[in-house]
Amino acid sequence: MIIHEPAVYRTERPVTWCPGCGDVRVLEALCQALSRSGVDPADTVLVTGSGCASLIGFFVNSYAIHGPYGRTLPIAMGVKLANPSLTVIAAGGDGDAYAAGAGHLIHLARKNPNVTWLIMDNGCYGLTKGQPSPTAGHGVAGAASDAPPSLNPVALLIAAGATFVAQGSSDDPELLIRLMQEAIRHRGLSVINILSPCAVFDRQPSARPHEAPEPVHIDPAHPTHDRMAALQLASHGDGKPRMGLFYREERAALDGGSAGRAEQDGYDDLISLERILNGIKP
Ligand code: SF4
Repeated sequence: MIIHEPAVYRTERPVTWCPGCGDVRVLEALCQALSRSGVDPADTVLVTGSGCASLIGFFVNSYAIHGPYGRTLPIAMGVKLANPSLTVIAAGGDGDAYAAGAGHLIHLARKNPNVTWLIMDNGCYGLTKGQPSPTAGHGVAGAASDAPPSLNPVALLIAAGATFVAQGSSDDPELLIRLMQEAIRHRGLSVINILSPCAVFDRQPSARPHEAPEPVHIDPAHPTHDRMAALQLASHGDGKPRMGLFYREERAALDGGSAGRAEQDGYDDLISLERILNGIKP
């Protein structure tokens, strides 16, 4: 394993996010995590969708696909199935993951592809002037007074069957780097919901430090293998976001093995993919 400096993972492009955008700190954390994990940039693919957060693919020195809105995860799964030796990371915003991509989220969590998914959650569609997204907090500016309750992404991911579910924050880089390292190491779908405030359209309490409830680190004694305990933790009602690893499960991943439903699904998908690729060969 060759350890590269974090700067090796950064392209020379200056970031185009607004000053104060949480995504800048997520980018820095990702470069650190890739460095500490000893991942080779030449063996890494970053798949993004559309929106402010998806710009991250331009700033990381790896192979990258800037895909259509909401289709980040299926593309990432296809890359991993085509070449299981690659480190495949999907990245994007909460709109990409929990609005347009919600259907994919549920079914790919069930299938457990060996992919890491980083979701930068700012509760809004920043690129299109900050309309509230499914995770927008209650009482935010721009939301209708009868707006439905916000989505609980962590509880959704655990219930859907993701085998590694964590929450971090762009304001806590050390925890975020550690979670990213664990997620990259995990075999199966590893997801981190990252509170990453939009500095322009403050749709999350975390964008308003004077109002934001203090985040709480998850107790190290929390049984991360216990799905019900993880769901209870994700559904607490005190308004203080929990940070750390909620749930981890060892389950057959989509890209290998010889037994189990998920592995059989993966085998079928590989055969289908091979047929498609053979069909488009010149
Ligand atoms: S609009 Fe918000 S999310 Fe988009 S780059 Fe600016 S601060 Fe970041």
